Amino acid sequence: MVRTPKGPMTTASETAHPAGFADTLAEHSLSASGGSMTTVAGPGALAALTGLIAHIAPEGEIVILSDGAPKTVAGSAVMDAVIAVLPAGRTARCLVAAESGHGVVLDETTIAEVSTRARGAAVVVSVGSGTVSDLGKVVAAAVSAPLISVQTAASVNGFADPLSVVVVKGAKRTVPTLWPSALVIDHGLVAEAPAALTRAGVGDAVAIWSAPADWYLACEIGMDPGRYDDRFVEPVKRIAPRLSDGSVTEADRIAALIEVLTVGGLVIGDAGTTAPLSGVEHLVSHVLDMAAMAEDSPHDLHGAQVGVASILSAALWDIALHEEKILDADPADFAVPEGLRERVLATWASCDPSGVLGEECWSAVQKKMGRWNDEQPAVRAFFAERDRHRARLDELAGDPAEPAAALALWGAPRTFLALTPAVSPERARWALAALPFMRDRMSLADLLVLRGCWNDELFDRVFARAADVGGGL
Ligand SMILES: [Zn+2]
Repeated sequence: MVRTPKGPMTTASETAHPAGFADTLAEHSLSASGGSMTTVAGPGALAALTGLIAHIAPEGEIVILSDGAPKTVAGSAVMDAVIAVLPAGRTARCLVAAESGHGVVLDETTIAEVSTRARGAAVVVSVGSGTVSDLGKVVAAAVSAPLISVQTAASVNGFADPLSVVVVKGAKRTVPTLWPSALVIDHGLVAEAPAALTRAGVGDAVAIWSAPADWYLACEIGMDPGRYDDRFVEPVKRIAPRLSDGSVTEADRIAALIEVLTVGGLVIGDAGTTAPLSGVEHLVSHVLDMAAMAEDSPHDLHGAQVGVASILSAALWDIALHEEKILDADPADFAVPEGLRERVLATWASCDPSGVLGEECWSAVQKKMGRWNDEQPAVRAFFAERDRHRARLDELAGDPAEPAAALALWGAPRTFLALTPAVSPERARWALAALPFMRDRMSLADLLVLRGCWNDELFDRVFARAADVGGGL
C-alpha cells in the first residue's frame, strides 16, 4: 500500500521556509505533482524531516538509503544529522547501496538487491545526490512505501520529478517511478557539497538553452506522441539567466541554482517526460556514460557532461538552422538511410563487441525510423509551416554563448578535455556521431541523419562553432 500525505504540511513547511522563493517553490511543487510532493527548501530545512516522517508514515520502520560517499554538514556527518532529526522512538535502518568503479549504478542487480533489503519499510528516506535520489524512487515504488528525498547536492534536476534513470542491458533508460512524498532541500547541506557536484548542477541547468528546441521539433513534426507546451519550458527559461549573474552573493547563487534545477524537475514531472529539458546534450552525456560503463572505465558527472554538450548542442542548432538551412529542405529530401542497421551496430560494437548493446539500441532506432515513415503527413504539414517553426526554434535554441557564459562564471567545464577524466577528441567526436543511434526519442540529430548530412564535415563545423565561445573539444 502506498501511503500519501494526508494534507498540506503547514507546520513543518512554515518553520523551514525562508521568505521569498522557497514558498513559491513549495506551491509549484504541490501543483506540478498534483498534490503528491511537498517541497521544503531553505537554510535549516533538514529540521522539517521530523514532522514530515510523522505525517507521511506515522508508524513503522524507517529505511534510510544512501551511498558510501562521505558527506558533512556544519562539522558533522550528514547521516548523523539525519538520524538526529528522526521522530523519537522510531525504528530506523540504514541501507548503503553497493558501489562499483562508477559509484552506485542503477542496473538490474543493484535495484533488485536494494529493493529486497528495503522490504518492510513504512517510509524510505533517501539521502544523497542524483543517483541515490533515483534509486530511492525505484526502491520505494518496488516496496510500495512513500519516499522522502533529502537532497544533498544541487547536481541535477532529477530530484523533483517522478522518473528515474536506470541502466537496462547496459543502456541508460528513463523510467517512470514515483513522486517523492516530500523533497527536503537544506541550503546549508547543499552549500557544503563538493564543488564538482554544484558545477555539474549548473551543467544540467544550461540544457535549457538547447533542449526545448529538440522537444519542440519532435512534437511538431509528429515524432513525439505528446504536444509541445510552453508551460514546461518558460518557468525555467525565465529564471535561468540568474545563473549568469556574477553580481550576487555565493548564497544567492546557490539559491538560484537550486531554484532553476528544482523548477526544472517539476516541469519534467508535470510534463511526464524529461523531453522538455533533455535533447541532444543529454544524449551526448548518456552515450559517454554507456561507453565508459562498457569499458569499465570512469566517466564524469552527468551534469558536467551535459554542460559541455549543451554548448555543442546550441552550436548544432545554430548551424542546422542558419548554415544547413534544414527547414528550407523539401520533405521528400529526408529518408531513412540505406544500411542504417549496420551503422548503428558498428557504432556500439566499439564498446560492446558482443553486440547486445548494439541490438538494444537498434531496436530503439528502428522504432524511431518506423514512426518517421508512419508520420509522413505530419512531416509534410510541419514543412508547410516552416516559417512559423523556424521562428519558434530560433527562440528556443539559444546562442551557444549563453550556456558558455553560465558555465564560465561557475568554473564548470566547457570543453571535453576539461572533463574528469578528460574525454579525448576522438571519443568526443564518436559521442556526437553516436547520439542519434541510442534511443527512440527524436532530436535534431535524427533530422540531419534523415537528410544525409550527419557526417564528419558537419561535426567539424559544430566543434568549431562551440570553440568560438570557449567550448568544443
Ligand atoms: Zn539531466
